Amino acid sequence: MDLFEYQGKQYFARFGIPISKGGVADTVDEAVEQADQAGYPVVVKAQVKVGGRGKAGGVKLANDADEVRTHAGNILGLDIKGHVVGRLWIEHASDIAKEYYASFTLDRGAKLHLGMLSAEGGVEIEEVAVSNPDAIAMIHIDPVDGLSEEQARAWVDEANLDEEARAQAAELLVKLYRCYVEGDCDLAEINPLILTPEGRVHALDAKVTLDDNAAFRHPEWEEFAGSDVEDEREARAKARGLNYIGLDGSVGIIANGAGLAMSTLDVVNQCGGTAANFLDIGGGANADVMAAALEVINSDPAVRSIFVNIFGGITRVDEVANGVLEALKRVDISSPIVLRLDGTNAVAGRQILADHLSDRLVAEPTMIDAARRAVALAGGKS
Ligand code: GDP
Ligand code: MN
Repeated sequence: MDLFEYQGKQYFARFGIPISKGGVADTVDEAVEQADQAGYPVVVKAQVKVGGRGKAGGVKLANDADEVRTHAGNILGLDIKGHVVGRLWIEHASDIAKEYYASFTLDRGAKLHLGMLSAEGGVEIEEVAVSNPDAIAMIHIDPVDGLSEEQARAWVDEANLDEEARAQAAELLVKLYRCYVEGDCDLAEINPLILTPEGRVHALDAKVTLDDNAAFRHPEWEEFAGSDVEDEREARAKARGLNYIGLDGSVGIIANGAGLAMSTLDVVNQCGGTAANFLDIGGGANADVMAAALEVINSDPAVRSIFVNIFGGITRVDEVANGVLEALKRVDISSPIVLRLDGTNAVAGRQILADHLSDRLVAEPTMIDAARRAVALAGGKS
């Protein structure tokens, strides 16, 4: 889950990372109230989960309440790369002597955490990586050892941060690392991390991605719920406890086991079709699970046919067959369904379905036959 800048900053603050005083506003009047409290001059900042807000006109300096009104009015409703601004963060403006870049993320290839630090911040780090890769000091951190203050100090030296910024930056990086690890982030990025003319180092921006798999140990993340723009279908599936990922094709897919679900996507593609989703119903293919799965797929208007691909192992195909029939009584499905049922008790399962087959409920003997049929019913090759 990605956080908004203001949420990211508040998350940083819990770990002692210095940020500017500020508050959120959803209206122009609220923006003025927050600006009055933060103290002028202020920066009016669009809260959208996309970078490059500054360039898009979503970050403006305001010297007084009138300027706040003007900028807040312009930024609210602004479309930044497809994200419409509905909320602002207003903070006391900082004077900037230098802009740096700092981040922690996971380097999957190295199986280590990766820290990136640059004296050339403010601009997009991808640009620096291309134009001047030597300006980025990288450090790999073993999660068992963590990041020591000594390492952090050597790191800021290597990145060539200004002398007066180094001690504070090293201290801040250790805190950011703690935030990244203890806070269960996939990404904790500060761009720009600034040095003020008075010699203070602090975070002017925050980009935080939380690791959803760690949500169970963070009840406090509840406050971020609903702020993420989730795929509606995925939200519906999650509420029903399904393992579902929305895609943009036209063949809805229900399979048992992640491996079979993946190969079902492949076979649908091989037959010239496109999958509308990945859905692994796991071992529990009873009527409840089947009804929930069909409901979620049915709610996707792009779906033109549904391919149910079950290979019974511990899951018994006769139970699946009953589950399908029961689910069809509960849910009014708008697309034709193609069944491929094999494995444990397949014969009994097919028997159960035999009397119910029609042009809306089709059975095919093999996976490839079923995929071809589902693709044809979805309107043919795309
Ligand atoms: P982004 O464009 O989405 O990354 O938004 P940022 O929060 O990074 O802001 C963009 C740029 O606006 C920064 O790189 C700064 O140059 C500038 N900026 C942001 N806050 C302040 C501030 O308090 N004072 C000044 N002088 N500039 C700021
Ligand atoms: Mn930024």
